[in-house]
Amino acid sequence: MLSYEEARRTVIEQIGKKRGPRAVSAVSVWDALGLVLAQEVKTDREYPPFDRSTRDGYALRSIEAAPGAELLCVGEIKAGDAVTKPLSIGTCVQIMTGAALPPGADAVVMIEHTQRNGDVVRFERAARAGQNIVPRGSEAASGQTILTPGMRLGYAELALAAQVGAAQLQCAKRPRVAILSTGDEVVLVDETPGEFQIRNSNSVSLAAQVRIAGGEPVVLGNAADRVEELSDKIAVGLKEDMLVLSGGVSMGKYDLVEKVLKAMGAEFFFDAVAIRPGKPAVFGMCQGKPVFGLPGNPVSTMVTFELFVVPAIDLLSGAEARPLPLVEARLVETMREKTGLTHFLPARVEWRGARPEVKPLRWQGSGDIAALAHANCFLVVPAEKETLETGEHVSVLMRKDVV
Ligand code: AMP
Ligand code: MG
Repeated sequence: MLSYEEARRTVIEQIGKKRGPRAVSAVSVWDALGLVLAQEVKTDREYPPFDRSTRDGYALRSIEAAPGAELLCVGEIKAGDAVTKPLSIGTCVQIMTGAALPPGADAVVMIEHTQRNGDVVRFERAARAGQNIVPRGSEAASGQTILTPGMRLGYAELALAAQVGAAQLQCAKRPRVAILSTGDEVVLVDETPGEFQIRNSNSVSLAAQVRIAGGEPVVLGNAADRVEELSDKIAVGLKEDMLVLSGGVSMGKYDLVEKVLKAMGAEFFFDAVAIRPGKPAVFGMCQGKPVFGLPGNPVSTMVTFELFVVPAIDLLSGAEARPLPLVEARLVETMREKTGLTHFLPARVEWRGARPEVKPLRWQGSGDIAALAHANCFLVVPAEKETLETGEHVSVLMRKDVV
């Protein structure tokens, strides 16, 4: 059985092999958050475009500022003012943050380190050439590539595009991810379940996870545990870029997902992973499309999506597979776990002291959505670990949607 790291690598390798050119479209910089860039963005000029003051103060020649030196202030420069007139010897000019330095000036002295008396400014200390200035072109040259294809557009990347005037960006289209729940006991969210039925919560969590990962969910509802209905709905799902199923992949007599996929030509790369929850997770290719069969217990579905489906969505979006959001935290209680499988347990990380601290939450196993709704991470217990001591450093997989 593969470890979760091996299973992730398998997904990345297999989907990497199939990755072709993605459909792209032009998107306004206002609407491109979370999309993957499909073009290069270059600067339209040098950045900064002029020698820029980073402080409110006085622009001067650094050699003229010594402790006790006095200079005549000959005017002021606000941010946005055009500056052409060189600074004369023996003078300084009042300057604001973001304004351009006059030719001849090579330093800015903060207003806090000066005393003003009429037009005469007295300096308290020496100045160093270049202080409080960002020189023209020091952030980027003109025509320099600043964003490259495959980058995911977050707020900083969008600001950078906006700065250089790239108001429209060629972005990869979001991969369309079909979501199919399975199970005779499952009813739609707006239906009233019978006493022994349950609502389809997995399609809701999966759609949310697909969105967060950068995909576009295509929700196909639920298929009963019958070969024909499953085949029909899987066939619909295979029209999209990827298919994610929940339920029907365990050892039960009515767990038919693998059998049906196989009959439809699927090739499987794994059908079990050494994790709990989520052990029966299945990954394969069917008719050229990646297919995931995730176990139906809600927490298993959520964990296996984060581990295996997120990298697949990244690759289909034209990005690299992002690393798992693992951080180290100090365990605040002693735990005993069964060995053999890597456990992902609902837990809460708190940032109280110098280091993050993590505490596992009580839960009733992988059907317990309520426990997960109070968790902000999964505590990762390595497969070979039987006891974890208070104070030990452990890995936690962050829930990036709530932290
Ligand atoms: P399965 O993987 O099909 O054996 O299902 C495992 C458990 O998950 C069972 O208790 C199912 O009732 C539950 N389950 C399956 N599908 C869903 C769903 N769409 N929403 C919520 N729970 C589900
Ligand atoms: Mg089932």
